[in-house]
Amino acid sequence: MKRENFATKTAFMLAITFVVLLGLVVGCSEKKHPKTTYEITAELDEKTMTVSGEIQVNYYNGAESSLDEVKFHLYPNAYKMGSFPIPSDQLALTFPNGINEGGIKISSVSVDGRKVECEGADKQVLSVPAFVEPLGETEIQMDFVLKLPNCTHRLGFWEENVNLGNWFPIVCIYKNGQWDEHTYSVFGDPFYSECADYSVNFTFPDGYEFAATGNAKVRGNTAKVTAKNVRDFAVCLTKNKEYSTTESGIKIKYYGADGENKFLDTAVQAVNTFSKLFGKYPYDFLSVVKTSFFTGGMEYPGLIYVSDTLSESLTHEVIVHEIAHQWWYSAVGNDQVNEAWLDEGLTEFSTTLFYQHNPDYGVTRTARVADAITSYMLYRESHLAGGDERIARNLSEFRSNLEYTYMTYVKAGLMFESVCNLIGDDSFIKGLKSYYKAHKFSLATADDLIGCMERASKKSLKGIFSAWLDGQVKMY
Ligand SMILES: [Zn+2]
Repeated sequence: MKRENFATKTAFMLAITFVVLLGLVVGCSEKKHPKTTYEITAELDEKTMTVSGEIQVNYYNGAESSLDEVKFHLYPNAYKMGSFPIPSDQLALTFPNGINEGGIKISSVSVDGRKVECEGADKQVLSVPAFVEPLGETEIQMDFVLKLPNCTHRLGFWEENVNLGNWFPIVCIYKNGQWDEHTYSVFGDPFYSECADYSVNFTFPDGYEFAATGNAKVRGNTAKVTAKNVRDFAVCLTKNKEYSTTESGIKIKYYGADGENKFLDTAVQAVNTFSKLFGKYPYDFLSVVKTSFFTGGMEYPGLIYVSDTLSESLTHEVIVHEIAHQWWYSAVGNDQVNEAWLDEGLTEFSTTLFYQHNPDYGVTRTARVADAITSYMLYRESHLAGGDERIARNLSEFRSNLEYTYMTYVKAGLMFESVCNLIGDDSFIKGLKSYYKAHKFSLATADDLIGCMERASKKSLKGIFSAWLDGQVKMY
Protein backbone atom coordinates (compact mmCIF):
# COMPACT_ATOMS: atom_id res chain seq x y z
CA MET A 1 0.00 0.00 0.00
CA LYS A 2 1.13 3.57 -0.51
CA ARG A 3 0.11 6.17 1.98
CA GLU A 4 0.45 9.86 1.44
CA ASN A 5 2.78 11.59 3.87
CA PHE A 6 4.32 14.99 4.02
CA ALA A 7 7.65 15.50 2.32
CA THR A 8 9.72 18.59 2.84
CA LYS A 9 12.25 20.41 0.73
CA THR A 10 15.25 20.99 2.97
CA ALA A 11 18.01 18.43 3.21
CA PHE A 12 19.65 17.53 6.50
CA MET A 13 22.76 15.53 7.11
CA LEU A 14 22.30 11.96 8.18
CA ALA A 15 24.46 10.53 10.89
CA ILE A 16 23.98 6.89 11.53
CA THR A 17 25.42 4.84 14.32
CA PHE A 18 25.39 1.16 13.95
CA VAL A 19 26.90 -1.92 15.41
CA VAL A 20 28.18 -4.62 13.15
CA LEU A 21 27.75 -8.02 14.67
CA LEU A 22 28.83 -11.32 13.30
CA GLY A 23 25.92 -12.39 11.11
CA LEU A 24 24.44 -15.79 10.71
CA VAL A 25 24.36 -16.58 7.05
CA VAL A 26 21.00 -17.89 6.06
CA GLY A 27 20.80 -19.86 2.86
CA CYS A 28 18.70 -18.84 -0.10
CA SER A 29 17.49 -22.31 -0.97
CA GLU A 30 14.25 -22.94 -2.83
CA LYS A 31 11.35 -23.91 -0.55
CA LYS A 32 8.56 -26.34 -1.25
CA HIS A 33 5.10 -25.38 -0.15
CA PRO A 34 1.47 -26.34 -0.49
CA LYS A 35 -0.37 -25.63 -3.69
CA THR A 36 -4.02 -25.03 -3.04
CA THR A 37 -6.58 -24.24 -5.74
CA TYR A 38 -9.64 -21.99 -5.63
CA GLU A 39 -12.62 -22.09 -7.97
CA ILE A 40 -15.02 -19.20 -7.51
CA THR A 41 -18.28 -18.44 -9.30
CA ALA A 42 -19.76 -15.09 -8.28
CA GLU A 43 -22.20 -12.44 -9.43
CA LEU A 44 -22.58 -8.80 -8.43
CA ASP A 45 -26.15 -7.55 -7.99
CA GLU A 46 -25.97 -3.78 -8.49
CA LYS A 47 -29.36 -3.12 -6.87
CA THR A 48 -28.40 -4.62 -3.53
CA MET A 49 -24.64 -4.25 -3.95
CA THR A 50 -24.13 -7.83 -2.90
CA VAL A 51 -21.93 -10.50 -4.44
CA SER A 52 -23.42 -14.00 -4.29
CA GLY A 53 -21.31 -16.96 -5.09
CA GLU A 54 -19.84 -20.36 -4.54
CA ILE A 55 -16.25 -21.16 -3.68
CA GLN A 56 -14.55 -24.51 -3.96
CA VAL A 57 -11.14 -24.86 -2.37
CA ASN A 58 -8.94 -27.86 -2.92
CA TYR A 59 -6.71 -27.52 0.13
CA TYR A 60 -3.30 -29.16 0.09
CA ASN A 61 -1.75 -29.92 3.48
CA GLY A 62 1.99 -29.35 3.13
CA ALA A 63 2.57 -29.83 6.87
CA GLU A 64 4.19 -32.92 8.38
CA SER A 65 1.20 -33.58 10.62
CA SER A 66 -2.43 -34.31 9.86
CA LEU A 67 -5.05 -31.60 10.36
CA ASP A 68 -8.54 -31.92 11.78
CA GLU A 69 -9.70 -28.50 10.63
CA VAL A 70 -8.98 -25.92 7.93
CA LYS A 71 -9.27 -22.24 8.82
CA PHE A 72 -10.23 -19.35 6.56
CA HIS A 73 -9.94 -15.58 6.94
CA LEU A 74 -13.29 -13.84 6.49
CA TYR A 75 -11.85 -10.32 6.08
CA PRO A 76 -15.19 -8.77 4.93
CA ASN A 77 -16.52 -9.33 8.47
CA ALA A 78 -14.10 -6.60 9.58
CA TYR A 79 -16.57 -4.16 7.99
CA LYS A 80 -19.35 -5.01 10.45
CA MET A 81 -20.66 -2.15 12.53
CA GLY A 82 -18.26 -1.12 15.27
CA SER A 83 -15.13 -2.85 13.95
CA PHE A 84 -14.05 -1.03 10.80
CA PRO A 85 -10.41 -1.57 9.77
CA ILE A 86 -9.89 2.15 9.32
CA PRO A 87 -8.17 4.69 11.61
CA SER A 88 -10.81 6.81 13.39
CA ASP A 89 -9.48 10.05 11.88
CA GLN A 90 -10.00 8.60 8.38
CA LEU A 91 -13.51 7.19 8.86
CA ALA A 92 -15.30 10.30 7.53
CA LEU A 93 -13.01 10.41 4.49
CA THR A 94 -13.58 6.72 3.76
CA PHE A 95 -17.35 6.79 4.32
CA PRO A 96 -18.41 10.08 2.66
CA ASN A 97 -22.09 9.03 2.81
CA GLY A 98 -21.88 8.10 6.47
CA ILE A 99 -20.93 4.90 8.23
CA ASN A 100 -22.52 1.73 6.87
CA GLU A 101 -21.52 -1.89 7.17
CA GLY A 102 -20.46 -4.78 5.00
CA GLY A 103 -19.86 -8.44 5.74
CA ILE A 104 -19.95 -11.98 4.42
CA LYS A 105 -22.50 -14.69 5.17
CA ILE A 106 -21.34 -18.29 4.73
CA SER A 107 -23.84 -21.08 4.23
CA SER A 108 -23.93 -24.70 3.21
CA VAL A 109 -20.34 -25.77 3.82
CA SER A 110 -19.31 -29.22 2.51
CA VAL A 111 -16.11 -31.20 2.92
CA ASP A 112 -15.48 -33.82 0.24
CA GLY A 113 -19.18 -33.64 -0.66
CA ARG A 114 -20.47 -34.03 2.92
CA LYS A 115 -22.21 -31.14 4.69
CA VAL A 116 -20.52 -29.94 7.88
CA GLU A 117 -21.19 -27.47 10.70
CA CYS A 118 -18.58 -24.73 11.09
CA GLU A 119 -17.53 -22.30 13.80
CA GLY A 120 -16.81 -18.60 13.37
CA ALA A 121 -18.99 -17.86 10.32
CA ASP A 122 -20.02 -14.52 11.86
CA LYS A 123 -16.44 -13.65 12.88
CA GLN A 124 -13.19 -13.07 10.95
CA VAL A 125 -11.87 -16.63 11.12
CA LEU A 126 -13.96 -19.59 9.98
CA SER A 127 -13.08 -23.09 11.18
CA VAL A 128 -14.13 -25.93 8.87
CA PRO A 129 -13.90 -29.45 10.36
CA ALA A 130 -11.88 -31.41 7.81
CA PHE A 131 -9.40 -34.22 8.33
CA VAL A 132 -6.38 -33.81 6.04
CA GLU A 133 -3.42 -36.16 6.06
CA PRO A 134 0.14 -34.85 5.62
CA LEU A 135 0.63 -34.10 1.92
CA GLY A 136 -3.07 -34.92 1.52
CA GLU A 137 -5.87 -32.88 0.03
CA THR A 138 -9.44 -32.07 0.88
CA GLU A 139 -12.18 -30.35 -1.08
CA ILE A 140 -14.11 -27.65 0.75
CA GLN A 141 -17.12 -26.02 -0.83
CA MET A 142 -19.17 -23.12 0.52
CA ASP A 143 -21.83 -20.68 -0.61
CA PHE A 144 -21.51 -17.04 0.33
CA VAL A 145 -23.29 -13.70 0.10
CA LEU A 146 -21.03 -10.66 0.41
CA LYS A 147 -22.52 -7.28 1.28
CA LEU A 148 -20.39 -4.37 0.07
CA PRO A 149 -20.06 -1.27 2.22
CA ASN A 150 -20.60 2.09 0.51
CA CYS A 151 -17.10 3.47 0.99
CA THR A 152 -13.74 4.16 -0.65
CA HIS A 153 -11.80 1.34 1.02
CA ARG A 154 -10.22 -1.91 -0.25
CA LEU A 155 -13.68 -3.48 -0.18
CA GLY A 156 -16.58 -1.25 -1.14
CA PHE A 157 -18.38 0.72 -3.83
CA TRP A 158 -18.34 4.41 -4.50
CA GLU A 159 -19.66 6.35 -7.49
CA GLU A 160 -18.49 4.50 -10.63
CA ASN A 161 -16.14 1.99 -9.00
CA VAL A 162 -16.50 -1.30 -7.15
CA ASN A 163 -13.44 -2.47 -5.21
CA LEU A 164 -13.25 -6.16 -4.37
CA GLY A 165 -10.11 -6.59 -2.31
CA ASN A 166 -9.91 -9.37 0.34
CA TRP A 167 -13.49 -10.29 -0.55
CA PHE A 168 -13.73 -14.10 -0.36
CA PRO A 169 -12.84 -16.78 2.25
CA ILE A 170 -9.08 -17.36 1.95
CA VAL A 171 -7.18 -20.13 3.73
CA CYS A 172 -5.14 -19.08 6.77
CA ILE A 173 -1.47 -20.02 6.91
CA TYR A 174 -0.65 -23.15 8.92
CA LYS A 175 2.83 -22.85 10.36
CA ASN A 176 4.76 -24.36 13.27
CA GLY A 177 1.79 -26.50 14.27
CA GLN A 178 -0.77 -23.72 14.41
CA TRP A 179 -3.08 -21.62 12.28
CA ASP A 180 -2.33 -17.94 11.83
CA GLU A 181 -5.62 -16.36 12.94
CA HIS A 182 -4.72 -12.66 12.75
CA THR A 183 -7.66 -10.38 12.10
CA TYR A 184 -7.93 -7.24 9.96
CA SER A 185 -6.25 -4.26 11.61
CA VAL A 186 -6.64 -0.51 11.50
CA PHE A 187 -3.01 0.01 10.39
CA GLY A 188 -1.08 -1.67 7.61
CA ASP A 189 -2.03 -4.25 5.00
CA PRO A 190 -2.73 -7.13 7.41
CA PHE A 191 -2.78 -9.94 4.84
CA TYR A 192 -0.67 -13.08 4.83
CA SER A 193 -1.42 -15.99 2.52
CA GLU A 194 0.19 -18.70 0.41
CA CYS A 195 0.33 -18.68 -3.36
CA ALA A 196 -2.41 -20.72 -5.03
CA ASP A 197 -4.05 -21.22 -8.42
CA TYR A 198 -7.35 -19.47 -9.07
CA SER A 199 -10.12 -20.01 -11.57
CA VAL A 200 -12.88 -17.40 -11.31
CA ASN A 201 -16.13 -16.80 -13.21
CA PHE A 202 -17.51 -13.37 -12.38
CA THR A 203 -20.78 -11.92 -13.68
CA PHE A 204 -21.14 -8.15 -13.43
CA PRO A 205 -23.67 -5.46 -14.41
CA ASP A 206 -23.70 -3.53 -17.71
CA GLY A 207 -21.48 -0.51 -18.17
CA TYR A 208 -18.39 -1.65 -16.24
CA GLU A 209 -14.89 -2.55 -17.34
CA PHE A 210 -13.67 -5.69 -15.53
CA ALA A 211 -10.14 -5.75 -14.07
CA ALA A 212 -8.78 -8.58 -11.96
CA THR A 213 -5.79 -10.63 -10.86
CA GLY A 214 -5.19 -12.49 -14.14
CA ASN A 215 -6.00 -12.11 -17.82
CA ALA A 216 -9.78 -12.09 -18.12
CA LYS A 217 -11.78 -13.40 -21.06
CA VAL A 218 -14.96 -11.35 -21.05
CA ARG A 219 -18.05 -12.60 -22.90
CA GLY A 220 -21.15 -10.51 -22.43
CA ASN A 221 -21.35 -9.80 -18.72
CA THR A 222 -19.22 -12.68 -17.52
CA ALA A 223 -15.46 -12.71 -17.09
CA LYS A 224 -13.51 -15.97 -16.91
CA VAL A 225 -10.15 -15.58 -15.26
CA THR A 226 -7.39 -17.98 -14.37
CA ALA A 227 -4.32 -16.98 -12.41
CA LYS A 228 -1.53 -19.27 -11.25
CA ASN A 229 0.78 -18.74 -8.29
CA VAL A 230 -0.99 -15.72 -6.83
CA ARG A 231 -1.41 -15.17 -3.09
CA ASP A 232 -4.71 -13.34 -3.44
CA PHE A 233 -7.30 -12.56 -6.07
CA ALA A 234 -8.81 -9.07 -6.39
CA VAL A 235 -11.37 -7.57 -8.75
CA CYS A 236 -12.07 -3.95 -9.65
CA LEU A 237 -15.10 -2.85 -11.67
CA THR A 238 -14.75 0.60 -13.16
CA LYS A 239 -16.39 2.90 -15.67
CA ASN A 240 -12.98 4.35 -16.53
CA LYS A 241 -11.47 3.99 -19.98
CA GLU A 242 -9.11 1.07 -20.66
CA TYR A 243 -5.64 1.65 -22.13
CA SER A 244 -3.57 -1.43 -22.86
CA THR A 245 -0.35 -2.64 -24.37
CA THR A 246 1.75 -5.79 -24.44
CA GLU A 247 5.33 -5.55 -23.26
CA SER A 248 7.66 -8.59 -23.29
CA GLY A 249 4.61 -10.89 -23.30
CA ILE A 250 2.94 -9.09 -20.36
CA LYS A 251 -0.51 -7.61 -20.96
CA ILE A 252 -0.40 -4.25 -19.14
CA LYS A 253 -3.58 -2.20 -18.70
CA TYR A 254 -4.38 1.16 -17.20
CA TYR A 255 -7.95 2.27 -16.43
CA GLY A 256 -8.35 6.01 -16.14
CA ALA A 257 -9.70 9.22 -17.65
CA ASP A 258 -9.29 10.52 -21.21
CA GLY A 259 -5.76 11.58 -22.07
CA GLU A 260 -4.11 9.50 -19.33
CA ASN A 261 -2.02 7.27 -21.58
CA LYS A 262 1.03 8.64 -19.74
CA PHE A 263 0.17 6.52 -16.70
CA LEU A 264 0.21 3.37 -18.83
CA ASP A 265 3.69 4.46 -19.96
CA THR A 266 4.78 4.77 -16.31
CA ALA A 267 3.48 1.26 -15.58
CA VAL A 268 5.45 -0.13 -18.55
CA GLN A 269 8.62 1.68 -17.44
CA ALA A 270 8.24 0.37 -13.89
CA VAL A 271 7.78 -3.23 -15.08
CA ASN A 272 10.82 -2.92 -17.37
CA THR A 273 13.04 -1.23 -14.76
CA PHE A 274 12.27 -3.69 -11.95
CA SER A 275 12.48 -6.70 -14.29
CA LYS A 276 15.98 -5.58 -15.21
CA LEU A 277 17.01 -4.87 -11.62
CA PHE A 278 15.39 -7.75 -9.67
CA GLY A 279 14.38 -10.44 -12.19
CA LYS A 280 11.57 -10.93 -14.68
CA TYR A 281 8.08 -9.67 -13.72
CA PRO A 282 6.32 -12.71 -12.18
CA TYR A 283 3.12 -12.83 -14.31
CA ASP A 284 1.85 -12.14 -17.81
CA PHE A 285 -0.81 -9.68 -16.62
CA LEU A 286 -0.95 -6.34 -14.80
CA SER A 287 -3.91 -4.00 -14.37
CA VAL A 288 -3.57 -0.54 -12.85
CA VAL A 289 -6.97 0.90 -11.96
CA LYS A 290 -7.64 4.49 -11.01
CA THR A 291 -10.45 4.00 -8.52
CA SER A 292 -12.24 5.46 -5.52
CA PHE A 293 -9.72 4.90 -2.74
CA PHE A 294 -9.18 6.86 0.46
CA THR A 295 -5.38 7.05 0.26
CA GLY A 296 -2.53 6.59 -2.28
CA GLY A 297 -2.93 3.05 -3.60
CA MET A 298 -3.14 -0.66 -2.86
CA GLU A 299 -1.39 -3.71 -4.26
CA TYR A 300 -2.86 -7.09 -5.12
CA PRO A 301 -1.20 -9.72 -7.32
CA GLY A 302 -1.33 -8.33 -10.87
CA LEU A 303 -3.92 -5.70 -9.88
CA ILE A 304 -3.29 -2.26 -8.43
CA TYR A 305 -5.64 0.41 -7.10
CA VAL A 306 -4.53 4.01 -7.56
CA SER A 307 -6.57 6.65 -5.78
CA ASP A 308 -8.48 9.04 -8.04
CA THR A 309 -7.71 11.91 -5.65
CA LEU A 310 -3.99 12.20 -6.36
CA SER A 311 -1.91 14.84 -8.15
CA GLU A 312 -0.18 13.82 -11.38
CA SER A 313 3.27 13.41 -9.80
CA LEU A 314 1.87 11.39 -6.91
CA THR A 315 -0.09 9.19 -9.35
CA HIS A 316 3.19 8.34 -11.13
CA GLU A 317 4.86 7.60 -7.78
CA VAL A 318 2.01 5.44 -6.47
CA ILE A 319 1.96 3.41 -9.71
CA VAL A 320 5.71 2.77 -9.37
CA HIS A 321 5.40 1.90 -5.66
CA GLU A 322 2.55 -0.57 -6.18
CA ILE A 323 4.30 -2.19 -9.15
CA ALA A 324 7.42 -2.70 -6.99
CA HIS A 325 5.10 -4.64 -4.66
CA GLN A 326 4.63 -7.19 -7.46
CA TRP A 327 8.16 -8.35 -6.53
CA TRP A 328 7.99 -7.59 -2.77
CA TYR A 329 4.67 -8.89 -1.35
CA SER A 330 3.15 -10.50 -4.44
CA ALA A 331 5.87 -12.83 -5.76
CA VAL A 332 8.04 -12.87 -2.61
CA GLY A 333 5.48 -12.95 0.18
CA ASN A 334 6.06 -12.01 3.80
CA ASP A 335 4.21 -11.79 7.10
CA GLN A 336 2.71 -8.33 6.74
CA VAL A 337 1.39 -8.39 10.30
CA ASN A 338 4.71 -9.04 12.04
CA GLU A 339 7.22 -7.84 9.41
CA ALA A 340 5.36 -5.12 7.51
CA TRP A 341 8.63 -3.25 6.86
CA LEU A 342 10.02 -6.15 4.84
CA ASP A 343 7.88 -5.45 1.79
CA GLU A 344 7.03 -1.78 2.42
CA GLY A 345 10.60 -0.63 3.15
CA LEU A 346 11.96 -2.58 0.21
CA THR A 347 9.20 -1.20 -2.01
CA GLU A 348 9.96 2.38 -0.93
CA PHE A 349 13.64 1.87 -1.70
CA SER A 350 12.77 0.19 -5.01
CA THR A 351 10.77 3.32 -5.90
CA THR A 352 13.89 5.39 -5.25
CA LEU A 353 15.87 3.05 -7.54
CA PHE A 354 13.18 3.53 -10.23
CA TYR A 355 13.69 7.30 -10.19
CA GLN A 356 17.46 6.86 -10.26
CA HIS A 357 17.17 4.68 -13.38
CA ASN A 358 14.56 6.91 -15.07
CA PRO A 359 15.95 10.46 -14.85
CA ASP A 360 13.21 11.83 -17.15
CA TYR A 361 10.94 12.07 -14.09
CA GLY A 362 13.27 14.72 -12.64
CA VAL A 363 13.57 13.07 -9.22
CA THR A 364 17.11 12.19 -8.16
CA ARG A 365 17.98 9.49 -5.66
CA THR A 366 19.83 12.07 -3.54
CA ALA A 367 16.83 14.39 -3.43
CA ARG A 368 14.41 11.59 -2.58
CA VAL A 369 16.61 10.33 0.24
CA ALA A 370 17.11 13.88 1.54
CA ASP A 371 13.33 14.43 1.52
CA ALA A 372 12.78 11.22 3.45
CA ILE A 373 15.40 12.20 6.08
CA THR A 374 13.97 15.68 6.50
CA SER A 375 10.46 14.37 6.71
CA TYR A 376 11.45 11.74 9.29
CA MET A 377 13.31 14.26 11.41
CA LEU A 378 10.36 16.64 11.44
CA TYR A 379 8.10 13.78 12.41
CA ARG A 380 10.52 12.72 15.14
CA GLU A 381 10.66 16.24 16.59
CA SER A 382 6.93 16.83 16.51
CA HIS A 383 5.58 13.42 17.44
CA LEU A 384 8.17 11.11 18.95
CA ALA A 385 10.16 13.07 21.57
CA GLY A 386 12.34 10.19 22.73
CA GLY A 387 9.66 7.62 22.00
CA ASP A 388 9.71 4.22 20.37
CA GLU A 389 11.73 4.24 17.13
CA ARG A 390 11.57 0.53 16.35
CA ILE A 391 10.80 -0.42 12.78
CA ALA A 392 10.27 -4.08 13.67
CA ARG A 393 6.99 -4.56 15.49
CA ASN A 394 3.61 -6.18 15.14
CA LEU A 395 0.91 -3.97 13.58
CA SER A 396 -0.89 -3.90 16.95
CA GLU A 397 2.12 -2.10 18.48
CA PHE A 398 1.74 1.04 16.36
CA ARG A 399 -0.13 3.83 18.09
CA SER A 400 -1.09 5.85 15.01
CA ASN A 401 -1.21 5.66 11.27
CA LEU A 402 1.53 8.28 11.13
CA GLU A 403 3.80 6.18 13.35
CA TYR A 404 3.17 3.10 11.20
CA THR A 405 3.92 5.10 8.03
CA TYR A 406 7.14 6.66 9.29
CA MET A 407 8.60 3.47 10.71
CA THR A 408 7.50 1.01 8.03
CA TYR A 409 7.92 3.14 4.90
CA VAL A 410 10.15 6.12 5.57
CA LYS A 411 12.63 4.78 8.12
CA ALA A 412 12.74 1.27 6.64
CA GLY A 413 13.38 2.82 3.20
CA LEU A 414 16.29 4.77 4.71
CA MET A 415 17.59 1.55 6.30
CA PHE A 416 17.86 -0.05 2.85
CA GLU A 417 19.57 3.10 1.52
CA SER A 418 22.08 2.82 4.39
CA VAL A 419 22.76 -0.89 3.74
CA CYS A 420 23.09 -0.18 0.02
CA ASN A 421 25.64 2.56 0.72
CA LEU A 422 27.59 0.18 2.95
CA ILE A 423 27.82 -2.74 0.53
CA GLY A 424 27.53 -0.86 -2.79
CA ASP A 425 24.78 -0.83 -5.41
CA ASP A 426 26.11 -3.88 -7.28
CA SER A 427 26.13 -6.16 -4.21
CA PHE A 428 22.76 -4.81 -3.09
CA ILE A 429 21.12 -5.56 -6.45
CA LYS A 430 22.83 -8.97 -6.57
CA GLY A 431 21.38 -9.72 -3.12
CA LEU A 432 17.88 -8.64 -4.19
CA LYS A 433 18.11 -10.76 -7.35
CA SER A 434 18.99 -13.86 -5.33
CA TYR A 435 16.25 -13.06 -2.74
CA TYR A 436 13.69 -12.83 -5.55
CA LYS A 437 14.88 -15.99 -7.27
CA ALA A 438 14.98 -18.06 -4.07
CA HIS A 439 11.66 -16.94 -2.60
CA LYS A 440 9.51 -16.23 -5.65
CA PHE A 441 5.96 -17.59 -5.02
CA SER A 442 6.99 -18.45 -1.48
CA LEU A 443 7.10 -16.70 1.91
CA ALA A 444 10.28 -15.02 3.09
CA THR A 445 11.44 -13.59 6.41
CA ALA A 446 13.86 -10.84 7.45
CA ASP A 447 16.53 -13.51 8.02
CA ASP A 448 16.07 -14.76 4.43
CA LEU A 449 16.66 -11.25 3.05
CA ILE A 450 19.62 -10.52 5.33
CA GLY A 451 21.16 -13.89 4.41
CA CYS A 452 20.90 -13.13 0.68
CA MET A 453 22.47 -9.69 1.23
CA GLU A 454 25.31 -11.16 3.29
CA ARG A 455 26.09 -13.79 0.65
CA ALA A 456 26.04 -11.19 -2.11
CA SER A 457 28.28 -8.73 -0.27
CA LYS A 458 30.39 -11.19 1.73
CA LYS A 459 29.79 -8.94 4.73
CA SER A 460 28.12 -9.50 8.09
CA LEU A 461 24.96 -7.40 8.03
CA LYS A 462 22.88 -8.68 10.93
CA GLY A 463 24.28 -5.90 13.14
CA ILE A 464 23.34 -3.00 10.91
CA PHE A 465 19.89 -4.43 10.21
CA SER A 466 19.29 -5.07 13.94
CA ALA A 467 20.39 -1.54 14.84
CA TRP A 468 17.84 -0.04 12.47
CA LEU A 469 15.05 -2.52 13.16
CA ASP A 470 15.41 -2.31 16.96
CA GLY A 471 15.39 1.50 16.96
CA GLN A 472 19.03 2.10 17.92
CA VAL A 473 19.82 4.13 14.79
CA LYS A 474 19.25 7.84 15.43
CA MET A 475 19.24 10.65 12.94
CA TYR A 476 20.56 14.04 13.96
ZN1 LIG B 1 3.18 -0.29 -0.20
